[in-house]
Amino acid sequence: MMMIDLIASLFANFCILVTFVFFSGRLAKKYAFLNGTKVTPLAGVSAGVLFGLFGMILMSYSFLAGPGTYVNLLHLTIVIIASYLGWLPTLVCALILAICRVIFYDSSYNSVTTAITLLFNGILCGWISVFPWSRLRKMMVGNLLWMGLFLALLLNTKGNLSIISFYPLQLIFSLGAVLIIYYIAEHIQRSNEVFTQLEVRATTDYLTGLNNLQQFHRHLETEMAQAERHQESLSLLAIDIDHFKVINDTYGHPAGDEVLRQLTRRLCQHSRSHDIVSRNGGEEFTVLLPDCPLLQAKSAAERLREAVENELFLLPPDNRITITVSIGLACYPETVPGADGRLLVQSADQALYHAKNTGRNRVSINSPASDSEY
Ligand code: GH3
Ligand code: MG
Ligand code: MG
Repeated sequence: MMMIDLIASLFANFCILVTFVFFSGRLAKKYAFLNGTKVTPLAGVSAGVLFGLFGMILMSYSFLAGPGTYVNLLHLTIVIIASYLGWLPTLVCALILAICRVIFYDSSYNSVTTAITLLFNGILCGWISVFPWSRLRKMMVGNLLWMGLFLALLLNTKGNLSIISFYPLQLIFSLGAVLIIYYIAEHIQRSNEVFTQLEVRATTDYLTGLNNLQQFHRHLETEMAQAERHQESLSLLAIDIDHFKVINDTYGHPAGDEVLRQLTRRLCQHSRSHDIVSRNGGEEFTVLLPDCPLLQAKSAAERLREAVENELFLLPPDNRITITVSIGLACYPETVPGADGRLLVQSADQALYHAKNTGRNRVSINSPASDSEY
């Protein structure tokens, strides 16, 4: 009967751990953890606290093997967090578990020694976490270290020595749990990575890293709704490189790509932080200027045009060239009275067409009063 209770409790621990791992994986995705970026100290401490709380729930599903002696898979929270998030979250988690072990459960001699052992295991796992080992190896070693420490603890426990008869089952469960949890955690992490890559590919232009056309339209819709709601202006610059084909024909397609990348840097440098720069296709770019009235947008467009005209573009191996751009400007509500993104784009395109037809390297505005006035 006791064995069945033990199995039930270890199985409950295992199922709860799997749920935690899934839940943590979703949080990691939401807060961009584990995708190659370093975990910040604040994020690490938060993760440590969260895993400490997870451990508390596991503790409440323990099997009471003897006075102050609980059998569970609690230590795996420390082992998992050490393998995936490093030493700081591990120490935070171990500290919380050790404190809660004494405060919320009995503060007998066994509890205090278990709490100290948990803390010690946290330090060991935190140390192991910096080793250049695979995550599975770190988890396995962390788990075996705890099981070793726990065995030593049981052998020194005053009281019923039959407590040790529960040990082999706990060892088997914890080894199996490490393997299964590793498999699930890796699967979640891989899915998170692929999902993030897909999101990036769906929204950005591969060459310049700017917003792509679809993302531009999403921003346009949002910004237009915002401008209408707050009765603000929204300006749009449609930018096209003059005679770009000549650059490709003279210096080659890779050099043309380099010009596109350098132009991207300049457009971003000369825009405000909340302006939205996109590559709408080929050598055509847009800059969406939220809360920017016509006059201000016109001087911004002139600034951009001059910056491009006056700066050298470096092409490997040793060519320096100058380029110019033509810019079409449209502004809601001053040149496009209706809060309609498509009309704004249309108007900026018409203005760009006009700039091209009237000599290039200039900024044009499509007047709402008459199509012939610029
Ligand atoms: P205009 O002053 O009238 O704009 O002349 P243009 O030569 O810039 O315009 P046109 O539309 O005739 O040519 C655009 C060229 O841009 C043609 C195409 O090969 C080139 N292009 C489009 N996308 C890319 C790209 O990703 N990389 C490179 N290197 N060239 C590209
Ligand atoms: Mg073009
Ligand atoms: Mg062009």
